[in-house]
Amino acid sequence: MERRSVSPETLAAQGLGEADPSTGGLTPVINPSTNYEQQLDGSSPQDRVYTRADNPTSEHAERLLAALEGGGACALFASGMAAATAVFCSLLPGDHVLVSRVLYWGVRKWLAEFALTWGLDVEFTDTADHDAVAAAIRPGRTRLLWVETPANPMWEITDLAAICEIAHSARVRVAVDNTVATPVLTRPFELGADLVVHSATKYLNGHSDVLAGAVLAASRDPFWERIRSWRRTAGAMPGPFEAWLLQRGMRTLFLRVHRASETALAIATHFDGHPALSAVLYPGLPSHPGHQIAARQMDGGFGGMLSVRLACGEGHARAVLRAVRVFKRATSLGGVESLIEHRRSMEGPSSPVPGDLLRLSVGIEAPGDLVADLETALDAALRSTPVPPAPAGPAEAAPRWT
Ligand code: PLP
Repeated sequence: MERRSVSPETLAAQGLGEADPSTGGLTPVINPSTNYEQQLDGSSPQDRVYTRADNPTSEHAERLLAALEGGGACALFASGMAAATAVFCSLLPGDHVLVSRVLYWGVRKWLAEFALTWGLDVEFTDTADHDAVAAAIRPGRTRLLWVETPANPMWEITDLAAICEIAHSARVRVAVDNTVATPVLTRPFELGADLVVHSATKYLNGHSDVLAGAVLAASRDPFWERIRSWRRTAGAMPGPFEAWLLQRGMRTLFLRVHRASETALAIATHFDGHPALSAVLYPGLPSHPGHQIAARQMDGGFGGMLSVRLACGEGHARAVLRAVRVFKRATSLGGVESLIEHRRSMEGPSSPVPGDLLRLSVGIEAPGDLVADLETALDAALRSTPVPPAPAGPAEAAPRWT
């Protein structure tokens, strides 16, 4: 298929539109081989030697994701965390790194625990505050600006074009965690990003049955080669079965993300101002501080993630959690089924997330069922005695890494 002539939506639906060369099959085969036969002259067919470095099934998913993001290169990883940490581990001791103040908990925790021993100098900053970012950059020492937008779980928005301009003027590389927006809604490379990172476990796969990650680069520069080399030497490749499921999931990415975004907007609009809530956090609401930027930066929707804060505090948040019937009480995001969780107890006692906050991942169910479920649960919570926090046992004391 002539790639340039069709939209990313078509490329996704057809998995790049390539038929299997030996059978004509429109579904790619899974290639589970861990090694490849060498020729008599010592060369390997298509330069593949061992699957920790290269695998055709992963390469197909990588080419598809690169086409969707408009990236120059893509490498799949065994998880989103493996992808994110590969970027940080490809920096050098002494490098200064600026990171969004609000971001996915696992990345924050890894940075707090391991970046120092790795020799990285990590500084958290409000990436919505451009003056703060410009002031935090240390010329010649700052090597990476890491941004998540919309950012977990408050859904703060960073203006990617503006932040890339600031970073690039000081020769700082920008990496964007695009897990929540997905390339359906935001294409960070078009806004200047150098690297894009995904937890492919979420929307890209979309069915809550694959753990995978990805790093993409605008170009195959030496830093990109270090990331690829890290994956190979650290053994952070996903298995071919995961890569295959991932390409299958990406075929319906546009339908799922658009549907989830529409429903999330309907839910946010419906519950904004509800007497049981003190806030609905969703970039699609005009009252959201990042709404104008999101409207410019996100194309065709504001994503399927939102959070609500209970006016009467954590006890009511827990009561709502108990009362839902359609929303599933589970962590993670980006699947076809809608999820609800008490984010703070997922993250553990050092979490900065308010105890009255519930995080919602909106799926593709009938929107009316989700609205009715939440309405009933909020009404029940308003009438109920608040549920006290669980006693600090192992479940409360330790983060659960999701
Ligand atoms: N980035 C974001 C925004 C996430 O939400 C997550 C997981 O929840 C990750 C990265 C880590 O991904 P994984 O769980 O696939 O390691």
